[in-house]
Formats: sequence, structure tokens, C-alpha cells
Amino acid sequence: MSIEVANVTKRFGDFAALKEVSLRVNAGELVALLGPSGSGKTTLLRVIAGLEAPDAGSVLFEGEDATTRHVRQRRVGFVFQHYALFRHMTVFENVAFGLRVRPRRVRPTRAEIRSRVSELLRLVQLEGFARRYPSQLSGGQRQRVALARALAVEPKVLLLDEPFGALDAKVRQELRRWLRRLHEEIHVTSVFVTHDQDEALEVADRVVVMNAGCIEQVGTPEDVFQNPASAFVMNFLGTVNVFHRRVDSLTPEIDAVEIQCPDELPAGSRPARIFVRPHNLEINTHATGKPSLRGRVQFINAAGPQVKVEVLTEFGEVLQVETSQERYQALNITKGSEVYVTPKEMRVFFDDGRPNSA
Ligand code: ATP
Repeated sequence: MSIEVANVTKRFGDFAALKEVSLRVNAGELVALLGPSGSGKTTLLRVIAGLEAPDAGSVLFEGEDATTRHVRQRRVGFVFQHYALFRHMTVFENVAFGLRVRPRRVRPTRAEIRSRVSELLRLVQLEGFARRYPSQLSGGQRQRVALARALAVEPKVLLLDEPFGALDAKVRQELRRWLRRLHEEIHVTSVFVTHDQDEALEVADRVVVMNAGCIEQVGTPEDVFQNPASAFVMNFLGTVNVFHRRVDSLTPEIDAVEIQCPDELPAGSRPARIFVRPHNLEINTHATGKPSLRGRVQFINAAGPQVKVEVLTEFGEVLQVETSQERYQALNITKGSEVYVTPKEMRVFFDDGRPNSA
């Protein structure tokens, strides 16, 4: 079932948590709402669910206006950060709950419920856990039970609010991949809220980047990462080096270092921010003839697939550089080494918000 949010505004007193937000989620899609704390992600999810009524605008399910439809009529399944499982019920009873409380005429038979719950427990890889109580499960297992419970009533739409927020990093990573695979199997239209960009980029078909009650950009993970529409998106998605400069020529430069820029820049000096991602900074131990910033290594973290090197330039700016393990070994640098850093690619966003291209 497709979801369409059209010009939705939601206020709490004088404060607008959502400002004329429009978004379309296609049937069967898995969409992530990504943004910093307070950007309106949960409010948007709650408006879609019918838990909050918008002050203006509408929500359409499969093209039909659902704005005034009650939560129950919307057929949405929820999974929240704090798995609210029934503690006195077994895993089986928890998953079966939504089916058992249905009115008698639409309630499945005992055998049907048993078979449906078994099928769901297989789907969330918890066969053999049916008789356990929530207190006998790990956090990740409880979250999977919560998901099975949400799916039991065959929702048309699945809404997840920071579903893995309370779990540790390793478990989160496993569950991300697992959610992706699960979604490929069941294809229910799903919207999930996260403030974790890795989670959004790894799991979602499309990512909605939110900021201060507005949508900054909607796109595939690759799209938003490679072609950020604004300085906010560039900054929010991953580590960046930011240079505040006046950009006034067709070839922008950082401290007399000319840099290739994918955007065409207009003439005329304007204050701008120049963004360079750490992997787009090349590091050398000697001048290569290419334009470079000179500095000294002040910190190295080699514990990962990419080595993170922090460089203090002669102009007093700190650069975050990322390089491969092989390159790091070849460079043979330590804390205090003199290095030359060449920006390979960058993006320029003008402070006045006018577009980059002339
Ligand atoms: P987080 O990641 O911290 O959960 P979020 O992006 O989900 O943040 P929302 O929960 O949607 O943000 O909140 C958006 C803004 O609306 C916040 O400033 C919040 O304080 C405000 N807000 C949310 N619910 C209410 C409420 N019931 N009453 C008053 N203000 C609210």
C-alpha cells in the first residue's frame, strides 16, 4: 500500500514540528526518516500512523484520504525502541495476541493461529523460543519478537521508531541486515525512524533527510551520500572537513590551494563553505607538485579497515583524513610527521543558499 503525505503541518502550541511536509512512499518500499534529534521524524511517523492529527495537510493510503481514519482502521503495525512485550506472556502468546483479541467472527481458529505464529517465528529466526518469556531473551531477540507481533495482524504498513535504538552496536548491525532480508521476503510498505546515518544508508531503499520540521532531501542512499542537496545533508551524512571561505573564482581554492570542484561556480565573491570528505583528502610525506596543504600529523587511529589521520595544517586548521591500510603502511607516518594533503574532490555550498551553478 502506498502512502502519501501532502503538505502536512503539525504544531505543538506555537512550535511547528512539521512544516508543510510532502512525501510519497511507494507500495512495498522501505523508507528511512533520518535526521537529528528534534527534526520531526517521530512526529511524521505518528501522523502517518494516525496517532497525531495534522493541523494542515493530509495523509493518503493507496490514494485514499486517511487523515480522519482511526489508527485501528489504518492497519499499521508498530515497532518502538522499547519493545513493549507483555512480560507475563510467552513469546508465542505475545505474537498471537493481536490475532486472539480480534472479534470472534474474524478471529482465526486455534490451529490457524498456531500455524501463523510458527511461520512468523521462523521469519524472525526465533523457532524454538516460543515457550520462553521476554525476560529470558536478549534485547535483539525481544525486538524480533516485537516485529513478529506487529506482523501477526498482517499490517498494510509497518512503522518502526528507532527499532534498534536501545541495542549495542554489534547487535544493531546484525539486525540491520536481518531487517533488509526480512523486507525482501515480505515486502510490506515500511517507514522507519533513525538518527543513525549508517543504519539508514544500509537498510533503506530511499532515505528522507529531515531538518527542523522540513525535508531537506529524498533519495536513494547513494544519491543522498554522493549528491547532497544542501550543506546540511553533506554535513549530516558522514564526517566532513569544512572550510569557511569566500569563494570568488571559477576554481575555488583553500588557502591558495586550487581544488577540483564538481559544481560549476559563479563569478563574484560570496561567503561559502567548502566541504571535503576525509577519503577525498590524499596524504603524502613530500610535496608532489600537486596543490596541497602542509601540516603535521597529530593523531592516528589505525584500528579499522580505513586509517584515520588527523592533520594540523600550517594555517591552524584540523583535517580529518582517511586512507587505506596499505597506503598508511607505505607512508610510514607517525605523530609529528610533516605531511602534504591534497584535496581531490569537494563541494561548495554558498551561505546565502543560492545554487552553486551559475
Ligand atoms: P528524536 O530523534 O529526538 O526522537 P525527532 O526527530 O523524532 O527527534 P520529534 O519527536 O518528532 O523529533 O519532535 C520534533 C519536535 O517537536 C521536538 O522539538 C519536540 O520537542 C516537539 N514535540 C514532539 N512532541 C511534542 C508534544 N507532544 N508536545 C510538545 N512538543 C512536542
